[in-house]
Amino acid sequence: MAIIIKGGTVVTAADVGIADVRIEGETIAAIGRDLPAKKSDQVVSAKGKYVFPGGIDVHTHFELPFMGTVSADDFRTGTRAALCGGTTTIIDFIIPAKGKPLAEAVAAWQKKAKKAVADFGFHMALPEFNEAVAKEIPSIIRKGVTSFKCFMAYKGALQIDDGQLIGVFNAVGKNGGLVMVHAENGDMIDVLTKQFTAKGQLTPEYHWRAHPALAEEEAVHRIIELSRFTDQPIYIVHLSSADGLEKVKKAVAKGYKVFAETCPQYLLLSADLYLKPKFEGAKWVMSPPLRPADHLEKMWGGLSRGYIQTVATDHCSFNFKGQKDMGRDTFAKIPNGIPSIGDRFNLLYTYGVGKGRMSLTRFVDVACTAPAKLFGMYPKKGSLVVGGDADLVIFDPAAKGVVSAKTSQHNVDYSAYEGMKLKGLPVAVLLRGKFAVRNGKYVGKQGAGQFIARGPSGKMV
Ligand SMILES: [Zn+2]
Repeated sequence: MAIIIKGGTVVTAADVGIADVRIEGETIAAIGRDLPAKKSDQVVSAKGKYVFPGGIDVHTHFELPFMGTVSADDFRTGTRAALCGGTTTIIDFIIPAKGKPLAEAVAAWQKKAKKAVADFGFHMALPEFNEAVAKEIPSIIRKGVTSFKCFMAYKGALQIDDGQLIGVFNAVGKNGGLVMVHAENGDMIDVLTKQFTAKGQLTPEYHWRAHPALAEEEAVHRIIELSRFTDQPIYIVHLSSADGLEKVKKAVAKGYKVFAETCPQYLLLSADLYLKPKFEGAKWVMSPPLRPADHLEKMWGGLSRGYIQTVATDHCSFNFKGQKDMGRDTFAKIPNGIPSIGDRFNLLYTYGVGKGRMSLTRFVDVACTAPAKLFGMYPKKGSLVVGGDADLVIFDPAAKGVVSAKTSQHNVDYSAYEGMKLKGLPVAVLLRGKFAVRNGKYVGKQGAGQFIARGPSGKMV
């Protein structure tokens, strides 16, 4: 039995046109006009709907031990929320313990991910770099973990210095991997955090003030120069500021191998949220922080014009009650992160396509195709091609909704986007040919997610 998705408007990163999609087993068997259906085939009408490739979110932190607690969404609730929001594949970050083999951390993450209901891959974070780490990198790449994240921030914990960054570029690059970076100057942040703390300035507002855009601008500049020095590409995660974007634009104009990701929060939310009374600003405490409102339109511009290639979430959820409030006495103890994996696809459609900030094809590129290409999953994932995985979203552009913690699938007690209106919602989501969402309801199966051993990262095919 095949499934035929009939008469929808099929959208890829390149084209928009009415077509049928025939699915046999886990893959797309044909795309074309008026495909014939056998009696045994299941025909699903998509008339008046868009048919998009399944979304890909390349930046999540499920069940992450962090800042004295563990992030609230695990691989089950996180990937379920992903599917309901049109995302069929995620890449989560393995954070290994210092001094321990990286392979041990891969095994630990594989164990946690057994609960996944969407497909998943892993990046490897490198909180230290030394000979043992360098030696192990090729075998990690052979396991299909082909991207490595470094931190220029979180001094005293995850931050590594320029010498180590150069070492990572050399070790990862020559084995077909891609270096990713959290680009904020951790020393600037450390100095400001200590200054505010000493003065008793401890509310969530000071988390934002301790992470100025200059700290991002400086780190973006420096990592671009280190990437030139080693002649290796660099992928900047969660680019948040117009200042950082300016550095990226200049580098792209000069032909340097720089890729950038941003997140819905840096396109839609602004720093005035930190000024909310009664500690409420803690809900948006994350690194990098939200920026003043005048950054937002510039970030949209960078995205629609191709300086930023991907939109991911950095989903790292902590409950307002019981987790965020660990930092009631000082912003430095508020667990960093927001929930958003279920909101990314819909927010980007409503406020990107719906508001005329980006085309339909650009939307598919940043939400699905470019992530698959950059992280070695294309054409199996990220587009609608014959022979590719049948991951797709049937999307009703007329459906209306409102983002709310009450209706969200996230396992957390608030929404970062509470009350924001949506126009356009998934009605059905298929993961490798099986319905995970139907009529807007989750119908997926426990353990349906598969590990994706990724190919070389860092190339746009
Ligand atoms: Zn992150």
